[in-house]
Amino acid sequence: MRRLIDRRIVVASHNEGKLREFADLMAPFGFEAGSAKEFGLAEPDETGTTFEQNAYIKAHAAAVATGLPALSDDSGLCVDALGGQPGVYTANWAETPDGTRDFAMAMQRTEVALQEVGATTPGERKGRFVAVICIAWPDGHAEYFRGEAAGRLVWPPRGDKGFGYDPVFLPEGHERTFGEMSADEKHGWKPGKGDALSHRARAFRKFAQAMLGAS
Ligand code: IMP
Repeated sequence: MRRLIDRRIVVASHNEGKLREFADLMAPFGFEAGSAKEFGLAEPDETGTTFEQNAYIKAHAAAVATGLPALSDDSGLCVDALGGQPGVYTANWAETPDGTRDFAMAMQRTEVALQEVGATTPGERKGRFVAVICIAWPDGHAEYFRGEAAGRLVWPPRGDKGFGYDPVFLPEGHERTFGEMSADEKHGWKPGKGDALSHRARAFRKFAQAMLGAS
């Protein structure tokens, strides 16, 4: 595995929710990180069919454009009763005809799909958030780290914290949705803390342990 020696990196995302979470997660490690937005990079088309493929497309494009190692995250919500949908298409389910994203509509769409398959009891509404972090270098080399958070879908949405589908996701063993949790509860993690709760923080922990020597 290639180590990440340079602390100058680009975070290959335009998603403000993800960028906030990565800023929190990276804070203890002394990174000098700029986002794809700050570098003025275009958002590449996510033409892959797996989280890994899409994470690579984003990280590699940003690494080539900046000459720096780039960290990306491709993530989504996989609902068991929907055969794993929306999965890699989680962001697409929020797309509106004018090209903006509407997550209230996307959550509703997921709920309608669950109703259509008759998934009404908690046991029938299980799913998980998945995040794949990719670190890519300008020469094309890449490393991958996957994190998952199991839970179930609730309706109506609860809470106004977080982003995306957070208000309808109740992580296993908890009574509050991601939308009702503080940033620290949802994705807080630092070296030595043990496991994290969210998919992104779990993926980041693997990355930090493998590539940054974190405990
Ligand atoms: P992508 O990785 O850019 O394809 O987008 C993933 C989509 O999944 C985001 O736009 C969010 O809607 C959703 N998503 C990923 N992670 C989270 C999370 O932590 N909370 C809520 N929604 C998420």
